[in-house]
Amino acid sequence: METPARVALISAPRGDVEWNALGDEAGALLSQYLRINTTNPPGNEIVAARWLAAVLRRDGIEAQVFEPAPGKANLYARLRGDGSARPLILLNHMDVVLASPEYWQVDPFGGAVRGGYIWGRGALDMKGEGIAQLMTLLILKRAAVPLKRDVIFLATSDEEIGAGVGAGSFAARHADLIRDAEFLITEGGTTRVNEQGGVDYYGVGTTEKSPFWLNMIARGTPGHGSRPTPDNPVHRLIRALGRIAEWRTPLVVTPGVERYFKDLATLETDSTRRRWFSDIRAALRDSVAVRTITSDLTYNALLRNTISITGLKGSDKTNVIPPLATAVLDVRLLPGQEPAAFLAELQRVVGDTEVTFRPQGPSWPATESSTDTDLFRAIEAAAHARHPEALVTTPMLAGFTDSHYFRRMGIASYGIGPFPLTVSDSRGVHGNDERVSLEALRFGVRFLYDVVKRVAAR
Ligand SMILES: [Zn+2]
Repeated sequence: METPARVALISAPRGDVEWNALGDEAGALLSQYLRINTTNPPGNEIVAARWLAAVLRRDGIEAQVFEPAPGKANLYARLRGDGSARPLILLNHMDVVLASPEYWQVDPFGGAVRGGYIWGRGALDMKGEGIAQLMTLLILKRAAVPLKRDVIFLATSDEEIGAGVGAGSFAARHADLIRDAEFLITEGGTTRVNEQGGVDYYGVGTTEKSPFWLNMIARGTPGHGSRPTPDNPVHRLIRALGRIAEWRTPLVVTPGVERYFKDLATLETDSTRRRWFSDIRAALRDSVAVRTITSDLTYNALLRNTISITGLKGSDKTNVIPPLATAVLDVRLLPGQEPAAFLAELQRVVGDTEVTFRPQGPSWPATESSTDTDLFRAIEAAAHARHPEALVTTPMLAGFTDSHYFRRMGIASYGIGPFPLTVSDSRGVHGNDERVSLEALRFGVRFLYDVVKRVAAR
């Protein structure tokens, strides 16, 4: 592919004209990037990585492309600073989730530019933000901005399948390339605008819940369906699942969530809710408040460990009682919760030693990045430079991103959503007609560059 024309810079961009041109360049790059189908599985991220490497090379930035498995890739590029501060990593994933073209108005891999929007699977999650990060690197390099810290661009595979050879395996195999980093920026934040175009808040991701996916196995006596056994494992499983479904996990207020509700209180127009949110701990001692607040699915997920029973399996044959029956549970743990302690509690709730649980994969206690850092202050300053009145807050993500691999290495990691989006704009994430407006892209490119410049420029 012929990459789009570059905007020449002799110094850091200042005016709207230059920034609009850079926004257009970002739009043209995004449209190309969306045409590379990286639906995972299989991902085929190597094609995306080669394209990113070619775009970087045009500006004299040499990227290393690692191929951890056939067709898979992780790309690493580093702009050098003077070393007086530790590096900042810009992390993005190249893979996307499946798109069902029959439900889309356009080809999800056509890179269409229509009605002021750039359409395609990944426009929001997260090729758009990947392009904003790429533009940041290109602008810093073109304008020869003197840096005090290295800025690392890291594009990875396998974020969407939560395993594989992406960020986690890169962090393990190439720890030497990132270990010295102080900060990381990736997805998981929100810049929320209302339908009137005003900014409600800038949400910066400082923490997220930790997935603890479990296989549940009930054992019993197999037999013929015509002669019921007292310990049919399917019956046993159903009884145990009934107890789990009824179990109200304890309400827990983590420091980050407490701060988030306090922030929300400042936006709240209803006086009762304002009182509840300003002291969420006190509110949770009031049964009316508990019922109202936890009836909101998002708030509920922020205030407790959650369990969704999502899969079931008994016998393949109607007339055969199987030797075991299984279920799968999607458990999400709050920061500070130990997986092993939760498992012991779950076993106690079930109260049946013939029912056992097996974690599907490695688990980790969720961690939180402090807001008392130069990067967090840079994000706040960049937000307030645009919207002086806007709230900058730290909503916890109920889902998860790749940032936990880096938080666990001691790298302060933040989720930023550089594009101002309404609630309905965000629906394209993992849904149909995913798109980003050119206006939001322009804003996001300039905003992200501003954040990085504030924390990394000399
Ligand atoms: Zn994503």
